[in-house]
Amino acid sequence: MKCRVCKAPALVKFPAHNAAFCEEHLDAFFLRQVAHTVKKYRLLPPEARVVVALSGGKDSLVTALVLKRLGYRVEGFFIDLGITEGNFSPASRQACEEFCAAHEIPLKVFSLHEEFGRTVPEIARRYPRLCAICGMTKRHIMNEYTLKTGAHALATGHTLDDMAAALFANLLRWDLHYLAKGLPVLPAEDGFAKKIKPLALQSEEEIIAFARLHGIKPVEARCPWAAEAKFKRYKAMFNSLEEKSPGLKRAFYEGYTKNVHRFQEETTRPPLVTCKVCGLPAAASPCTFCRIWRNAIKEDAIPAVT
Ligand code: AMP
Ligand code: ZN
Ligand code: ZN
Repeated sequence: MKCRVCKAPALVKFPAHNAAFCEEHLDAFFLRQVAHTVKKYRLLPPEARVVVALSGGKDSLVTALVLKRLGYRVEGFFIDLGITEGNFSPASRQACEEFCAAHEIPLKVFSLHEEFGRTVPEIARRYPRLCAICGMTKRHIMNEYTLKTGAHALATGHTLDDMAAALFANLLRWDLHYLAKGLPVLPAEDGFAKKIKPLALQSEEEIIAFARLHGIKPVEARCPWAAEAKFKRYKAMFNSLEEKSPGLKRAFYEGYTKNVHRFQEETTRPPLVTCKVCGLPAAASPCTFCRIWRNAIKEDAIPAVT
């Protein structure tokens, strides 16, 4: 197995690209691939300031490193959910801190306990759907924080495996609302920061190889509350198909990005109101986030004064 570029012995082989690379050319290949995604989907203008949401996992750490290497002004953002079972949040936080220190990336840690005096497990005692509440909480905080910083966009570490599996799940349900929103970029709108997924075309194996090459040490702990990894079965299905047909996963997702306008024409957005507590768009006021974390009461629960 020889490097496609220099013919030296290869370190990795990527059947989906019908290519193998040595260390140096693996690095160059990965950077070029992500730079292509950034340009093709207009994720960021040159030298833009970008908030990268860091979970401590390899995907988001690689996202931050690649964007920095491509010349963007990266700011790390970690939300400490206060999940101490299995040392999950403390270990995740430490992975982010060590990574950011090693790569000279500024890091903002947002602690739910410090900001609201409560943590996700404490909230979950009252509200049973922990993963849904946690997801909503993270999305709200990331959006509110990115808008506050005035950065060009918020980047997350979603990978090709995530994008293909989510697309497949949405197709199974013919969920047109989500099928309209599966691109690597969601444009900024009033009250919504621009959201980007720079690794949307990179597979897990490419990301693992790049993380290893740069000595990235992701957190080992997994969330003890998550029953199983998201879309685990669909990801396994794609990987088994991929063995017989290398490149299938990428072709499936790229084909979608060419056809996404068909779904966008179909959907109408549910009407939104402005949350009177945080001032952001929401389905109702106060928004679910403010009701849960900021103790806001539902407007229709306030007794009318006569
Ligand atoms: P997940 O939904 O847990 O698979 O995470 C998807 C993406 O959300 C990750 O790649 C990160 O970019 C971001 N993310 C997840 N957890 C956190 C966290 N605690 N703080 C900041 N960003 C996070
Ligand atoms: Zn080479
Ligand atoms: Zn609100």
